[in-house]
Amino acid sequence: MPVEDSRIKGLYTKSVDERRRIVAEACSLTPEQVQALAAHGELGEEAADRMIENVIGTMSLPVGVATNFVIDEKAYLIPFCVEESSIVAAASNMAKRCLTHGGFTTNNDQPVMIGQLQLLEITDMEAAEEAIQQEKAALVAFCNDVPSRMIALGGGCKDITTHRLSTPLGDMLVAHFLVDCRDAMGANAVNTMVERVAPRVEALTGGRAHLRILSNLAAHRLARVKAVFTPEEMASNGTREDGLNVIAGILEAQAFAVEDPFRATTHNKGIMNAISSVALACGQDWRAIEAGCHAWPSVKHGRYTSMSEWSQDESGNLVGEMELPMAVGIVGGASKVHPAAQANLAILGVEKAQELAGIMVCAGLAQNLGALRALSTKGIQAGHMKLHAKNMAVSAGAVGEEIETLAARLQAYDGHRSQSLVESWLNEMRNS
Ligand code: NAD
Repeated sequence: MPVEDSRIKGLYTKSVDERRRIVAEACSLTPEQVQALAAHGELGEEAADRMIENVIGTMSLPVGVATNFVIDEKAYLIPFCVEESSIVAAASNMAKRCLTHGGFTTNNDQPVMIGQLQLLEITDMEAAEEAIQQEKAALVAFCNDVPSRMIALGGGCKDITTHRLSTPLGDMLVAHFLVDCRDAMGANAVNTMVERVAPRVEALTGGRAHLRILSNLAAHRLARVKAVFTPEEMASNGTREDGLNVIAGILEAQAFAVEDPFRATTHNKGIMNAISSVALACGQDWRAIEAGCHAWPSVKHGRYTSMSEWSQDESGNLVGEMELPMAVGIVGGASKVHPAAQANLAILGVEKAQELAGIMVCAGLAQNLGALRALSTKGIQAGHMKLHAKNMAVSAGAVGEEIETLAARLQAYDGHRSQSLVESWLNEMRNS
């Protein structure tokens, strides 16, 4: 059962150790479970306690490195932080299949984020919009008149646009502040800016500024990737004929994702398997990135559909393209305070946020191809089972050599593979 009472007064005033003890008692945790929470790796307890509220411990996930990526003629090792097996292997495998044509090519927008200002109770919409446009230069200058490294480096507010909304609660005016965030993701910088400028806009328009917040639909901060995969590279046996069959199957699978939102959701989840894993490894706000990426196809195509595009060129090659909003930073946020995020950024060796954005869409495209290729050939479970078999053995209670033995037996097994089957095999092994 959950806890008897979830109201723990003043939990935030306690030390991490005290909080852990309180929670352990309330939840009847075993000493091993308490130890699991107390054990911390690279993120020390003090640093963790500064990051969020009511900290009782930290939690680790594996970091794996995807190989074979060549992006804009540079070779990268890409760190993924994720709990799901096969992701890193699939991305690495697909990344080497576009090397004939030089790997991945990216084209990334300037790092411009949108700060939204919601204006209510405006009596003359046209006059309000005009007033903002007439005073634009002064408003932009006001926004940028703060001591900020981001602005000193050429970032800051660059433009202001407006649009009207008709809602059941009446008409609203929305102002977008377009802010170049340079190498920061920019949430704090943008939120601070729109909060500060809001009274000025109220005075100009006669309206009441309500919400003042960044939009995670980073429509001006798009990252684009293109890669070409030859039939020989796509083949299982190296022949052009086999590769052309594989490509035909991938295009059929793609058509399904384009037309059907049920399929598109899973197709796009596969893309985010890479993008979110790299984001997490590099200390990014992966929720913000996920929100933006999932919204983008609807904005671009007027309905939810595949994030990626796959086609065949006149030489029979498979061509993959993708464009996604990518709000990432290499300064600020967790990228600066989490030692492992710093190490993972060092593995990438990125010098600009835009470079990280480009790498992430490449990883997403490769991941997408991995899933499409597996699904349209031998199915996804064969690859998944390699590592998952070990997880199933551990879940059944196997230790030491039992894990390998059970995993090997499970992989070779042709029938229905279930957790209870693995448990019965373990019992058999131990009793024989
Ligand atoms: P931040 O608040 O640390 O700001 C970046 C700082 O770095 C600025 O002060 C800037 O002047 C400075 N800087 C130094 N060198 C720079 C360079 N080369 N380019 C740009 N700036 C440079 O970080 P942030 O990126 O503004 O905020 C990111 C954090 O905000 C994330 O942790 C995110 O989770 C969180 N957040 C997200 C949302 C959201 O809606 N997505 C909302 C609020 C907060």
